[in-house]
Amino acid sequence: MSKMLIFTAPSGAGKTTIVRHLLRTFPELAFSVSATTRPRRPYERDGYDYYFISPAEFQDKVAAGDFVEWEEVYEGLYYGTLHSEIDRLWAAGKHVIFDIEVKGARNLKNAYPAESLVVFVKPPSPEILFERLRARQTEDEESLAKRIARAAVELTYEQSFDRVLLNDDLAQALAEAEAITRDFLNL
Ligand code: ADP
Ligand code: 5GP
Repeated sequence: MSKMLIFTAPSGAGKTTIVRHLLRTFPELAFSVSATTRPRRPYERDGYDYYFISPAEFQDKVAAGDFVEWEEVYEGLYYGTLHSEIDRLWAAGKHVIFDIEVKGARNLKNAYPAESLVVFVKPPSPEILFERLRARQTEDEESLAKRIARAAVELTYEQSFDRVLLNDDLAQALAEAEAITRDFLNL
């Protein structure tokens, strides 16, 4: 059976780092590229990190029922998982890996309860989370403030998911993420 491995956490906890590592390690996995209206960061590639689309295109896709789930994650910034991504990757014989925020993770799990495992990536402390987010240097002060405010709420969701993965020492977190993946995919 094709499966869904869903990583969720507040922004800055290390989801992207962990998910990219798993994609390099396990050829069985493929990434669900989300659609978003947020501006592309210089190092991101369209169609690889996200499908970067306009708010009007996003609304058209909502109206057409193209999304399994979508959220206005930050004010005016929309993110969503496309049915077509899951279908495309499952048709290619892959297990699908996701990097999405906590509400989307819950909705995805509810849509595919038998296929999915949700892993919550936990930072060592809120202070370290905020430090990492600042050090990444991808956000201006306004965006940083929005992310920090939302993170405080997202950190309370830890109990709602299947597994909690502490991301303190990175090498250790990556090894544990590999173990969770092997176990879930029976590798
Ligand atoms: P997310 O995708 O959850 O927003 P990222 O993977 O972008 O998080 O990680 C946020 C920042 O923290 C990045 O600059 C990343 O290199 C760094 N980082 C990730 N894990 C660790 C760790 N265990 N220790 C120190 N820095 C980390
Ligand atoms: P970022 O702007 O840092 O790439 O992502 C902001 C937040 O949106 C992160 O928590 C990320 O996991 C989440 N996100 C990315 N894609 C999706 C999606 O398709 N649906 C939902 N609900 N959240 C997403």
